[in-house]
Amino acid sequence: MSALNLVMLGPPGAGKGTQAERLARAHGIPRISTGDILREAVAAGTEIGRLAKAIVDRGELVGDGVVIGIVQERLDRDDVRRGFVLDGFPRTVAQAQALDRMMDGADPLVVVDIVVPEDELVRRLLTRMVCESCGATAGGMDGGATPANCRKCGGRLVQRSDDNKRVVLERLRVYLRETKPLVEYYSARPTFRSIDGTQAPDCVASALVRAIQEVDGGPPGSEEGRR
Ligand code: AMP
Repeated sequence: MSALNLVMLGPPGAGKGTQAERLARAHGIPRISTGDILREAVAAGTEIGRLAKAIVDRGELVGDGVVIGIVQERLDRDDVRRGFVLDGFPRTVAQAQALDRMMDGADPLVVVDIVVPEDELVRRLLTRMVCESCGATAGGMDGGATPANCRKCGGRLVQRSDDNKRVVLERLRVYLRETKPLVEYYSARPTFRSIDGTQAPDCVASALVRAIQEVDGGPPGSEEGRR
């Protein structure tokens, strides 16, 4: 069986994390979020964390060398043999080129771009909450009421320190300048698909499953990833 090597592209607030989590669970492969890894490093006070904190808080990008090193190390681990879901990496053309070099000889990357207009992204990012304990997202995405506690683990819901208006606008500017060019970088590949991210999360999940089956030749009619 071939590995599913999946890259989730899209602006902040597109729902990459939520969908990456579902797909990773359905396929039994790890979700690799460079944002989560950096936030963990900040919380643990490691050298990378100390270096990254101010940059993440301003909504800018951590240097390519640091992030490429993190991903290279993660992709060297055994649990990615059946595949992985990359969430938030690559974010620059240099990172995409480095990933192509890392993938040399491996199964091709499947790349999905989740498309959402900017006013909707701002609304989502300013209303979303995350669980302090398990990192799950609540509210924001579906426009529904935000629960008092995390639905998954009952943990306390907090706002991410970079989900405030000034930093959100900077992250969207950085996305347009640095990350959106990746759509062009990947779009000529037969394994690239665009998904309408304004649909309800379950519909986005189904569209992703269909797109992955199309390009990766998974079993037809599989409901994987919907749960
Ligand atoms: P995210 O959780 O994906 O929204 O990422 C949060 C923040 O972590 C970003 O705003 C960046 O400051 C940093 N970050 C995450 N992934 C990358 C990356 N691939 N390259 C550079 N910085 C990143």
